[in-house]
Amino acid sequence: MRVLLLGGTGEARRLAAGLTRRAGFDVITSLAGRVAAPALPAGRARVGGFGGPDGLAAWLAAERIDAVVDATHPFAAEITASAVTATARAGVPLLVLRRPGWCARPGDDWRRVPSLAAAAEPPGERVFLTTGRDGLPVFAGDERRWFLMRSVDPPPPPLPPRSTVLLARGPYTVEGELELMRRYAVDVLVTKDSGGEMTAAKLTAARLLGLPVVMVDRPPAPEAPAVATVDAAEAWLERLIQTGAGTGRRAGPL
Ligand code: NAP
Repeated sequence: MRVLLLGGTGEARRLAAGLTRRAGFDVITSLAGRVAAPALPAGRARVGGFGGPDGLAAWLAAERIDAVVDATHPFAAEITASAVTATARAGVPLLVLRRPGWCARPGDDWRRVPSLAAAAEPPGERVFLTTGRDGLPVFAGDERRWFLMRSVDPPPPPLPPRSTVLLARGPYTVEGELELMRRYAVDVLVTKDSGGEMTAAKLTAARLLGLPVVMVDRPPAPEAPAVATVDAAEAWLERLIQTGAGTGRRAGPL
């Protein structure tokens, strides 16, 4: 079974590693190419966009793909929408693998907002911004606040005039996040509800320091079957291979 794995997350890498150990799967992971030196998955990888849903549907047919697992980041809404449209058109089964969002615990002071734009006025003066580079233009015009911005690669302009960029890649520890927030006298954290363990330490640190957190809600879930764990995605693919569904369809006309 040829599986296209839409990647860019730790879950996608773990699923690729698991599938390459199992018999019967030929896995290609697709990466957007946003990060200069991406963490590469086990098995084959391709890099770059497909050219929207039409391009992806054509690619699925040309590569004789039997199943697609969308394991992209919960905020990567465009590629997910593209996968829903393209797989429906090409008649290829699609599974969405999404880790659960974060839940506030006692002692947390979270302010949930529906979008990055709605996070533009955080309740503080020294903002720790972990929304990724796509979110930075929202804050670029803020001349009053100071921003600590953490990203994997240097973010492109425009940036807020009073800011410091920290280049780093998770996972992060609570001790490290506490030290960072204290060192820069951060008084508010702005983050997206990405979920997962790799970047959750900042939330614990904010709770321990009594800092408010502006939490940007996820975009709406796609209309597609979904699972929350890598194991469940592997089980879905195993069922597919056992029933023969998704195979034999190879490269019919679009
Ligand atoms: P996006 O806004 O949903 O996608 C924009 C365009 O980039 C898509 O239309 C597609 O181009 C291309 N693309 C995105 N992911 C792709 C993939 N895995 N393989 C091939 N093309 C892809 O995506 P994004 O939010 O910029 O995220 C880009 C990548 O970074 C994703 O792989 C995601 O998993 C990862 N990531 C995102 C975030 C985040 O906060 N958004 C955080 C961590 C990792 P075409 O239309 O030309 O096909």
